[in-house]
Amino acid sequence: MLTPKIYKCRPLAALRTGAMRQSLLLSAHKGLQVCTAAMLFGFRIVDDMIDGLSHWMDEKGYRRLDDFRGKAVANTVNWNDLNMNFDTKAVIDSEKCIECGRCHIACEDTSHQAIRFDTAVDGSRSFTVIDEECVGCNLCAMICPVPECIEMRPVDNGLDYVTWENHPLNENPSP
Ligand code: SF4
Ligand code: SF4
Repeated sequence: MLTPKIYKCRPLAALRTGAMRQSLLLSAHKGLQVCTAAMLFGFRIVDDMIDGLSHWMDEKGYRRLDDFRGKAVANTVNWNDLNMNFDTKAVIDSEKCIECGRCHIACEDTSHQAIRFDTAVDGSRSFTVIDEECVGCNLCAMICPVPECIEMRPVDNGLDYVTWENHPLNENPSP
């Protein structure tokens, strides 16, 4: 069993989900910050996170954090080399949706108003992503309480691969 240590310190990285926690550790972080999740669910969420991480480590055959910390670093690239035209859209699985409406509220109030909801005569609600409005910010997928209900799916938008170095908005390209 892992032992939590709670420090008052400057956060190194923020996390919201188990997958993010593993990703941050894989990318060599030594400190993880829990803030909003603790406000929402109380400090007992730390026990849940430790439990989830312990199970994940058992599945993977890791005994210590250092067995996997930093393993993903070799797969990272400089952000300047990323494709600025890479595009993803949110896709909602209506079979898994519990109609809570959190995705709609999050997108409507703090993102791009890209999730429409309709109410059927029997009172059931359906949520649909408006592709033309979706900017792929991922907020709805993070806020959805049902695992894998919202998938961020890469789309081919027909645009060329453009890095920030060659982007028309870059006013200071390298000489
Ligand atoms: S990814 Fe962002 S913009 Fe697209 S539907 Fe979700 S919250 Fe809205
Ligand atoms: S947050 Fe998830 S479960 Fe809730 S309405 Fe949206 S897609 Fe459905």
